[in-house]
Amino acid sequence: MRTIIEPFRIKSVEPIHSTTPEQRKELLIQAHYNPFLLKAKDVIIDLLTDSGTGAMSSEQWAGIMRGDESYAGSESFYRFESAVKNITGMPFIIPVHQGRAAEHILFTFKGGEGKYILSNTLFDTTRANIEFSGAQGLDLLCPEGKLPAVSAPFKGNIDTQKLRQVIEEKGKENISVVIVTVTNNSGGGQPVSMENIKMVRDICSHYEIPFFIDACRFAENAYFIKKREVGYQDKTIIDIAREMFSYADGCTMSAKKDAFANIGGFLALNDAKLAEQCRNQLVITEGFPTYGGLAGRDLEAIAIGLGEIVQEDYLHYRIRSIEYIAEKLDAENVPYLKPSGGHALYLDAKAFLPHIPVHEYPGQALAAALYLEGGIRGVEIGSVMFGKYDQQGKLVPATLELLRLAIPRRTYTQSHMDYLLEVIINVYRNRKQIKGFEITYEAEYLRHFTAHFKPAAQK
Ligand SMILES: *Cc1c(COP(=O)(O)O)cnc(C)c1O
Repeated sequence: MRTIIEPFRIKSVEPIHSTTPEQRKELLIQAHYNPFLLKAKDVIIDLLTDSGTGAMSSEQWAGIMRGDESYAGSESFYRFESAVKNITGMPFIIPVHQGRAAEHILFTFKGGEGKYILSNTLFDTTRANIEFSGAQGLDLLCPEGKLPAVSAPFKGNIDTQKLRQVIEEKGKENISVVIVTVTNNSGGGQPVSMENIKMVRDICSHYEIPFFIDACRFAENAYFIKKREVGYQDKTIIDIAREMFSYADGCTMSAKKDAFANIGGFLALNDAKLAEQCRNQLVITEGFPTYGGLAGRDLEAIAIGLGEIVQEDYLHYRIRSIEYIAEKLDAENVPYLKPSGGHALYLDAKAFLPHIPVHEYPGQALAAALYLEGGIRGVEIGSVMFGKYDQQGKLVPATLELLRLAIPRRTYTQSHMDYLLEVIINVYRNRKQIKGFEITYEAEYLRHFTAHFKPAAQK
């Protein structure tokens, strides 16, 4: 088998700035040990997120010039709307400035005191918008999804037995939406099978509960279905994606992921009445229904990106480039969440740093260590992001303590990944010297973005 190459050439480049370990030590202190508070120029390889950080194609840049900036009824909107309809098959398409705006609008009508939203795993912004509305979000991930060392084809699946049980317990009238995140970002970028999506459809139809897809990585999910699920080998990615959406009543989407755009998102709906409510809200918070907080040029870039993301040679390269990292980590026995996901590699911080207790945030410690060693920026997905306090103020930890290394789309080359591997492996060899952290400042919602830390006091 030949090397799988990047299916593109580079037309425009951005310089990377180098830093020394001494400089990084100082920079990390200034950032209160929170990688979100570092300046991007002080990062060598930035794997904080794959959101809005991808490289646009020459066609997308051409689209930027073509963007029609008319306030109402712009040509770019109609191209955007038709691209979204083409994939989702849903009739009501509402543009928003990014995914969380779609969530905010949706939960303005579907959230509220006493309501529950059930999911495989809610993403952090989705959970925050649900809780902000007064509702509660419950994650019902399948059992294998909670075991980082166990490999299974569809670890993003929702536990359908639990789903039925929770609906019965809480009462179907109190469940306002079931939302399945594809792929499951906070659960390791793991895919959800078509079979699971169909079962959720059946359960939701039975109880008359709307079923939504958080579609941020729909194309990566479709690719995994093609590779791993019986009966899909000969289908095209777009047909698989269309089938996924055909089972849902609506979806929220961040175009900063599987649409290759730097900004944007949408809410797509089948329900005309809900669409009308959402549009009325949109006008107050985002903008007129044919631009929804975006410039015409952004709508254009999304429309083109949606066509490019479903190309199989791209997805093949994309998934393979993450497997490549995973294989090299296997050779060194570095613990990561298995199998490797669609958009990121998740180091298993609990297994990597077993000497650091969860209340000293092993994922955060690992984030700091990778930055110090090689200027790599990742993000903790663990008890900093999802931890809660009980009534006594004691930390209720997250299920998993992960460090996510998200790979921006079409942005880094194989030698960047080789450098990353050298850094991770070196940190792993010296892992016993890594120490935990304490939080010294935190905000009420989404605390991971702005929290301050200090090295934990040594006992
Ligand atoms: C990024 C993301 C969101 C939120 O989208 P933004 O564009 O960042 O607001 C929601 N759900 C998932 C699964 C995501 O990855």
